[in-house]
Amino acid sequence: MPRLYIHLQSIEENARRILERCSKYGVEVVGVTKVSLGDPKIAQTMKDAGIRIIGESRIDNIVRLRKEGIDGPFMMIRIPQKDDLPKTLDLCEYALVSELKTIEWMDEIAHEMGKSISVIYMVDVGDLREGAWYKDAVEEIAKAVKMAKKIQVVGVGTNLGCYGGVLPSERNLGILVQIRDIVEKKSSCELPIVSGGNTAALKLLEEGKLPFGVNQYRIGEAIFLGTDVTNNRQIQWLRQDAIVLEAQIIELKTKPSFPEGETGQDAFGRKPAFVDKGIRRRAILALGEQDILSTGLRPLDNGAEVIHASSDHTIVDVSDVERRIEVGDTMRFTLSYGALLRAMTCPHVEKIYV
Ligand SMILES: *Cc1c(COP(=O)(O)O)cnc(C)c1O
Repeated sequence: MPRLYIHLQSIEENARRILERCSKYGVEVVGVTKVSLGDPKIAQTMKDAGIRIIGESRIDNIVRLRKEGIDGPFMMIRIPQKDDLPKTLDLCEYALVSELKTIEWMDEIAHEMGKSISVIYMVDVGDLREGAWYKDAVEEIAKAVKMAKKIQVVGVGTNLGCYGGVLPSERNLGILVQIRDIVEKKSSCELPIVSGGNTAALKLLEEGKLPFGVNQYRIGEAIFLGTDVTNNRQIQWLRQDAIVLEAQIIELKTKPSFPEGETGQDAFGRKPAFVDKGIRRRAILALGEQDILSTGLRPLDNGAEVIHASSDHTIVDVSDVERRIEVGDTMRFTLSYGALLRAMTCPHVEKIYV
């Protein structure tokens, strides 16, 4: 079975460093555990580092976390589906919302349940995922504030990078703060939270360009991996070795690098591009697209190159690897966010806490 080695100490160190940087600028850190299927050990590690709020995207994960003794506050970071609203109210202290209809439903259910929740209204400042389009946001949020009787609108938020790849900037986060300020004036209410983004927004803070007023980040990737995929970088002041995947070699043969015969599509309907490098030494790992995202595997062996993967087989060119490799040996990899998401949520990958 492929194994995922999770170094909790490195995760804790990353969380501490991020907290330290963010608190210097008055930015609170929400620790996002969604990539880990709501792993209680990881959530506890984040809490030990000093993170107060845990962000999750799935109700089941929050149920798991609470059952395993992780106390809130929890933030539901995916805008909730109607069916999940009672549980969201029951299990979460905060929720990100982007529909007036959802506010209406939440308020009704909150009334029935005798519960409340703090809501952050999402604004789309350009990335085109969730949120009221920024040009229409003032009016929409003002309505939300008015409609919320039993629940409370406590701030505005945005998410950048995840769909359009739009980078957080002084300009787009500045717009978010402005919208908050205008709604506060217009509705004579207080919206103390400006939840400015995710891992991609750390760069702005490093460069001292974060607009005044932004006071919350929701961070996942940087804590787990020390990377920032949106800005395509390793974050130099964080650790990249917190999580390592190990898989076993089940075949090791010398073969041509170019297939023989007429070619169609692969198992996933893709058409792989082949580079003819002549005869190569190729390892097949007991690992596949079911367990990982093959494009997100980075071999720890210098010279190794991941060529392709189907559901259960990953092909790695090991011709240029210096150490002696045999069938039955293992290879190790660090992972991209996408690869980690699959590995952590896959029952066929064993998780080992170090
Ligand atoms: C996933 C997610 C985050 C965390 O993003 P990272 O890039 O992992 O830091 C924050 N906010 C929302 C709404 C998300 O969906």
